[in-house]
Amino acid sequence: GPSEGDDLLKSVAIRLRNCMRASDTLARQGGDEFTVLLPDLAQADNAIVIAEKILNEFRVPFHVSGQDFSVSVSIGISVFPRDGESADALLKHADIAMFRVKNNGKNGFKFFDPEMNACHHERIIRENELRCAVRNSEFELHYQPLVCVTGNRIVGLEALIRWRHPVRGLVFPCSFIDMAEEIGLIHEITYWVLAEACGQLARWRAMGLDNLRISINVSPQEFNRNDLVERIASNVSKFGLPEDVLEIEITENPLLQDVSGVIDKMHRLRECGIRISIDDFGTHYSSLNYLRRFPINTIKIDQSFVRDLVEGQNCSPIIPAIICIARGFGLNLVAEGVETDYQMKTLRDLGCDEMQGYLFSMPLPADDVEQLLCDAFPILQD
Ligand code: C2E
Ligand code: MG
Ligand code: MG
Repeated sequence: GPSEGDDLLKSVAIRLRNCMRASDTLARQGGDEFTVLLPDLAQADNAIVIAEKILNEFRVPFHVSGQDFSVSVSIGISVFPRDGESADALLKHADIAMFRVKNNGKNGFKFFDPEMNACHHERIIRENELRCAVRNSEFELHYQPLVCVTGNRIVGLEALIRWRHPVRGLVFPCSFIDMAEEIGLIHEITYWVLAEACGQLARWRAMGLDNLRISINVSPQEFNRNDLVERIASNVSKFGLPEDVLEIEITENPLLQDVSGVIDKMHRLRECGIRISIDDFGTHYSSLNYLRRFPINTIKIDQSFVRDLVEGQNCSPIIPAIICIARGFGLNLVAEGVETDYQMKTLRDLGCDEMQGYLFSMPLPADDVEQLLCDAFPILQD
């Protein structure tokens, strides 16, 4: 809340002041950014002493309105005249160094380095390119089959976004989804994916391929938006799809913040018939309590666990444990990243029969996956 925020800022200012001498200047620039001016440094490296003092001061949580708050600190340092001769240049360069610390996991300090300027410049170019890509819809979806190995058929497709960059060619989501989240573009991307995937599924259903469900990945950030449920449901109905053909995949982390808000949205999605899947299960907190409280349909075993299934080596107990949990909760189970026959057979024998992975198919453009669906897909040889 705003009053707790103000109290916290005041406490932060007091702790910062405790790290400084009378001749130094402390200012709040706005938001959660403070500037420290150290005019009497004998040498630049002496700033390290102050930076470490500040980091140390912030190790102890702040006590505000009866609660403890842990606060991370990211410190960027610029030195006159090496890093700039004007206040503007010094502030700008300290800012760039600070962002570098933030991006590297926070709680640290960095001196400005001219090479950072080049990276910063590069980042601004990338951000602008991504904005342009959203405006011009430079994206495409590839679809990876989800296979039921006991029924020997494709039961669904996961839609995975790619960016068809005019110069760099096909760019994978790991290179731009985080940035899209940071600069507030993810919302538009999610709804582009949703409309594209639903439209494509409707076309396939019209061709008689009507035994498929489709999964889309939804960024945790979407759960902060109030119109999430309406936007998803209206897309499904716009394309005349039955609601239960759409599954949204979310990773576990959003489940930890504003739990009751997330549960409420999930229930409303389920009331609309939309299925919910927990992606990369086992890589975050995997709280069993959440599994009990969240109305989910499916858990997807993360590919890192599947990769550990190697012929001739002992099977890690993680996969059997996850399978057991899914069964206990009556959940559907999918294993991701299945690449070898051995992995497929081990998973199948353990009782997980829905899988995804290069063993069956890479994610493919719509036309190629359509071919695969129409050719009745020879999934297993034996
Ligand atoms: P994910 O949802 O867990 O998707 C699975 C990733 O594993 C995909 O990578 C897929 O190409 C890859 N994969 C599939 N089978 C195999 C295999 O057998 N071996 C290996 N090594 N990898 C396999 P991709 O397409 O690069 O996507 C990466 C992540 O980006 C996705 O992970 C998902 O979290 C995110 N993502 C993809 N599309 C979207 C989207 O439309 N919106 C959002 N918010 N995130 C997306
Ligand atoms: Mg996924
Ligand atoms: Mg995954």
